[in-house]
Parts: sequence; structure tokens; C-alpha cells
Amino acid sequence: MPPPTPLRKSYNLTAVRLLRRAGDERFLKFLVEAGIVRRPGGPPGLSLILGASEVRLADLAAAYAALARGGAMRAPRMLAGGDAGGGADGNAGGGARALFTPEACHLVSEALTGTPPGAARLDGFACKTGTSWGRRDAWAIAYTPRFTVGVWAGNFSGEGSPSLVGGEAARPCAIEVLSWLDPRPRWPAPPPGIGPGLVCAETGLAAGAWCPAKVKGRLLAADNRACEVHERRAVDAASGALLCSECMAGREVAWRVLARWPADIEAYLRARGKPGLPAHEGSCAAIAPGGPLFASPAPGGRYASAGGAVAVKVLAESARLFFFLDGVALPEEGDEFVLAIAPGRHVLACSDAEGRTAKVSFECVRGAE
Ligand SMILES: [Zn+2]
Ligand SMILES: [Zn+2]
Repeated sequence: MPPPTPLRKSYNLTAVRLLRRAGDERFLKFLVEAGIVRRPGGPPGLSLILGASEVRLADLAAAYAALARGGAMRAPRMLAGGDAGGGADGNAGGGARALFTPEACHLVSEALTGTPPGAARLDGFACKTGTSWGRRDAWAIAYTPRFTVGVWAGNFSGEGSPSLVGGEAARPCAIEVLSWLDPRPRWPAPPPGIGPGLVCAETGLAAGAWCPAKVKGRLLAADNRACEVHERRAVDAASGALLCSECMAGREVAWRVLARWPADIEAYLRARGKPGLPAHEGSCAAIAPGGPLFASPAPGGRYASAGGAVAVKVLAESARLFFFLDGVALPEEGDEFVLAIAPGRHVLACSDAEGRTAKVSFECVRGAE
């Protein structure tokens, strides 16, 4: 998938991975600085990054306006009536603070305008849409370097409606207003920290020696990572099983370029029928047998819980574990934690760094412990 797609399509997996890298504390601090969250101590990071917090349209538009002007955040100021609220730190009309780097603004605007990566200049209007849970709100923010337009559609009673989808109910209006204000937006040249380069078509990182498709794109000067997903691996010419130096002797070896994705992405691709990395040669002495095992919850177990929580315990050799509840990645990495969960049937999966996966089905019912 091309790099800009996850942001425009609001993919949850991408957001959850980003949160895992940044950490809850840093993410929450950013939301407070951006005026999206007014007080720390609300819902935890995972639900926040998936959009669980409430936000005023003016505050959301102000944060997007910071992207539009290269990163400088200014608190929104009401021209007549209304309560400006003073933004996150009460500095309505005050000085600007740097919220994003110019490079981050360029990359986000590139994705939201749909400009192909590596183009000399961005083209058109940047637009992000959103639809709240239960279709109670549809919103769209559209911006150019000069103007930011925010549109909210919904019922003042908060009642949901099937037609309240951000891309359909709010986007056309935001784009129409913006095209009156700034019909031919002129975007600045890319900031100095971004330059042209050859990138891996699948990961968007600097192309490595074995990437099967390399395309002209752009690279960040501050990011020296190259694609490590694509690598040349030895496989058994007959069975296709992966071989290592331990099990290579006496077999006919073929060399193939294979993709070794992080375990959570590998599980995501497999769940959608994409072939993953082949299994390692079964008779190899170097590979410890056995993937993770669930000690709790028990298979087919029924858990009555007043608080909606189930204890999870996994026996695993691997230190790095990845959990998926009903196909959605969880932030937990340890082998023991308490899972907050809604009543109903669930499937919990655990993958280790080698991609070995255990699954357990169980049911959570409302009631006392
Ligand atoms: Zn690659
Ligand atoms: Zn081996």
C-alpha cells in the first residue's frame, strides 16, 4: 500500500503502531499542546488515538491550521460572539508555538492532498474527514497554506443518522468553501529536510538492496532507516521451507527475495489471505519448537465479570509478543496483563517475533465475579 493511504483511510493498525512507538505519555502531551485534549487524565492513549475524545470543531480546525502554516500553532480567536476558550493554554491571539516540524507538515499535507510522494510541489486542497461512533458526527477539515475550513454535520440532540459520514456529509461543503477562498492554492517548496530519493514501493523507506520494487520518492534527512523487510533468504528448492546455516547442509538450496514483516503486520496480512514468510525447515535443530501458549483465558471459557476484565497469561519463549483481540492489534506486549473487554464472544490471538501464533476463543458475560 502506498504510504499516504493509511492516513487518508484512517487505518487503525497504523495508528496503533504509531502510538506504540511514541508512547502514551508523549502522545497525550502532544494532544494537550495541540488543544485537542483540554485536561490530561481522560481516556487512555489507545482509545484516544482511535478518536474517543470529544473535541470542539474550532480546536480541531486550529490544530489542522498549524499543519497548513508549516507547524506554528495559534489558539483560535472568535471574531464575534461565542467563547474562544483560549485554546489549551489560554493564549488566545497570543504568539505562535511550533507544534510540528515543517517536514512533518509537508508529509501530512502530501498525504491529505493526494500528491504523489516526491512531486516537486504539493497540489490541490488537503482534506481529512471523520465519522464518529454511531454516526453521530460527520466532520471535514480542508486546508491550503492560506486558509483552513472546518465543517461539522450532525444533530444538536446528538442522535446518529446513517447519512452522517464525514466524506459524504461534510467534505463537499468544506471543499466548496475552500475553493471560494483560495481557488488555486500555492504550496511552498518542500522544506530542506526532505529530498528526492529511491524508496521501497512497499515500505516507503530508503530502498534496500533486495526491495523488489523501487520507486522515485522522497527521503527525510533526519531518518536514515533503509527498508529491512525485503531480504534474500535461502529456501529448500523442493519444499520452499526457510533454511539457515544449521539446516542448509545436504539440501538443494534456492535463494529468494522474501518479505519479513514485523509479526503484527505479518498476522494482519495472513488474516487477509496474503502469503506470509514460509515456515522454517521443521527438522532444523536451531529453531526451538513451540510458539506461545495461552494459560488464560481458557479455550471456550465463560468469564463473568462485573468490571469487564479478563486476566491474560501466556507461556512463551519469545520476549516480544503481539496481541490481537478479534483481529485488532492491542498495545500490550507482556506475557501477563488484564484485558478490559466488552460482553460477548471474543478471539484473542498472540504472535511471537517468529510469527508463531496461538488463538483462544472465550466468552465474556455480564455479572458478578
Ligand atoms: Zn523493501
Ligand atoms: Zn534452520
